[in-house]
Amino acid sequence: MSKTVLVTGASSGIGKATAIYLAQNGYNVYGAARRMEMLQALQVYGIKPITLDVTKDESIVACVAQTGNIDILINSAGLGSYGALEDVPLSEAKNQMEINLFSVARLIQLVLPNMRKNKYGKIVNISSVGGKVGLPMGVWYHASKFAIEGMSDCLRNEVRQFGIDVIVIEPGGTKSEMTGIGGKELMRVSGNTAYKGLANSLLKMYDDMEKNSVEAVVIAKLIKKGIEATHPKTRYIGGAMAKPMLFMRKILPDKLFDKMLMSQMK
Ligand code: NDP
Repeated sequence: MSKTVLVTGASSGIGKATAIYLAQNGYNVYGAARRMEMLQALQVYGIKPITLDVTKDESIVACVAQTGNIDILINSAGLGSYGALEDVPLSEAKNQMEINLFSVARLIQLVLPNMRKNKYGKIVNISSVGGKVGLPMGVWYHASKFAIEGMSDCLRNEVRQFGIDVIVIEPGGTKSEMTGIGGKELMRVSGNTAYKGLANSLLKMYDDMEKNSVEAVVIAKLIKKGIEATHPKTRYIGGAMAKPMLFMRKILPDKLFDKMLMSQMK
């Protein structure tokens, strides 16, 4: 019997590409997000749309209740909140953590009882190269992704005993709505403050990165590889600049890495 997958963030970018790719490969796919009209367009692939607002607990609970028995959870809903730490109101920081971290934990809590009962489950958390590398002006985005990395490491060793795998995906530049939205947010928050010079440099770097971004299906293929592996790796890396960035982060001391990073923002 085909496995049942719940993909959050299925209305756009990586979540959308993953939902389509898995449906095309025989999975029973539920696609969840807020924009129902975008999800309804995916019904041609056999994807079942579900409304989900990850900032609302009742919406998360209703989403999981509607899907029933989830074998594979793919947490792709996410937001890139940008701006200097000094400029970002903590209410926005909390919203970022709610969307990128706590909602992921809540969804996992709700799917685990069935996965434990079935002695089978795959939990795929979309982190980022930004879960290992922190860029200036992205403090809450990176904090949320570093937290996803840590949470996934802890969870992996809690649930392995039940036959459940936890897989982290670390994409680099990937075509989606995110970079456009993040850039606008960055300029709105820090485009006219003491950090405007850095904000402009960063925006330029993001624009350059966007030009080299890979199609989201590249990440979808990586996810499929992870969920179909008998012994999945803990992390899968893909997308523009992902491997070289993570390699440099691993081998360079902090200050040398900072120097290399900041030299890209001139
Ligand atoms: P997109 O902006 O294209 O997609 C984000 C998705 O999240 C949308 O489907 C959106 O749906 C959903 N979403 C946002 N807020 C909510 C909410 N409150 N409730 C429910 N769904 C929500 O971005 P990506 O596809 O790029 O992002 C997917 C993941 O990949 C994110 O976690 C991101 O951090 C990560 N990533 C992306 C990279 C890239 O270069 N694109 C690089 C590294 C990591 P809707 O608005 O309809 O609710």
